[in-house]
Amino acid sequence: MKKIIGIDLGGTSVKIAIISPSGDILEKWSIPTNGLDNGNNIVFDIIHSIQEHFELLQLSEKDFLGIGMGSPGKVNPVEKTVVGAYNLGWSRLQQIGKVFENIFPLPFFIGNDANVAALGEQWRGAGKGERDVVMFTLGTGVGGGIVANGQLVTGFGGAAGEIGHLKVDTEQRFTCTCGGKGCLETVASATGIVNLARYFSKEYEDVSSIKKAVDDGNDITSKEIFNSAQKGDVLANTIVDQFAGYLGLALSHVANTLSPSHIVIGGGVSAAGEFLRQKIAEKTYENIFPQIRDRCQISLAELGNDAGVIGASKLVLLGVKNN
Ligand SMILES: [Zn+2]
Repeated sequence: MKKIIGIDLGGTSVKIAIISPSGDILEKWSIPTNGLDNGNNIVFDIIHSIQEHFELLQLSEKDFLGIGMGSPGKVNPVEKTVVGAYNLGWSRLQQIGKVFENIFPLPFFIGNDANVAALGEQWRGAGKGERDVVMFTLGTGVGGGIVANGQLVTGFGGAAGEIGHLKVDTEQRFTCTCGGKGCLETVASATGIVNLARYFSKEYEDVSSIKKAVDDGNDITSKEIFNSAQKGDVLANTIVDQFAGYLGLALSHVANTLSPSHIVIGGGVSAAGEFLRQKIAEKTYENIFPQIRDRCQISLAELGNDAGVIGASKLVLLGVKNN
């Protein structure tokens, strides 16, 4: 049975895996991401590493259906290019597809990293293989991916799924990385929850470890805020309720639009786990159309760091089927 190569390109490391057509990881390894020299070595490092493993495992191109890759930045899945992945040093357009296809006689597919993670979770994670699954990735920013009717929704130019920029804060208190105001990302990412913590600390007059940290000028993290909330800190609970409220609003908009069977919450911030999931679910269900609500499950991501390589290999299966 022919296998697939899945690549998850990140700012500090590149995860590479050999995956079966049913989504099982057969081999996986990682290499450091070399951001020096405008990231010019990254693609060649990945290619060399794959060639080394072909030798090591006595495999060749003939054993594979194709290569799939998830990348940060603006990805054009048709042209197979990436631009604006600043954490990789890629400010200029990168012809990733051309380089891979020159070296390996295999179909090559590429997608935005958040979209690809969504595909992984839909296929082998919390989405349980259902055809309509949406994922929200809560990290430094908020990423997203939509699988509708079993297909990854990429939209015109490949930019679909930017649910981090849904406008949910009508007071527009914080400026987003996109230059806009009121985006979900400004109130529901690792940086967003800190924005809320600073905002609500100002007017809070009681004792709170979060307020003390803000007043003392110390850095606070989303983890500290969730921990304090679970210990009963009133201010921390206000912040978490606001955070979950904005997420719930955004999830309900997406649910009302797409009627997914599963909405998956992943990313570093989702480490707060069931405590956070319940709060988000409650706020989401308050705002969903009843017929959709009964069928829409809100779950935590299950694949962790493997979502990227698994989703990248699914891109190959979907692409091969479409061609
Ligand atoms: Zn934005």
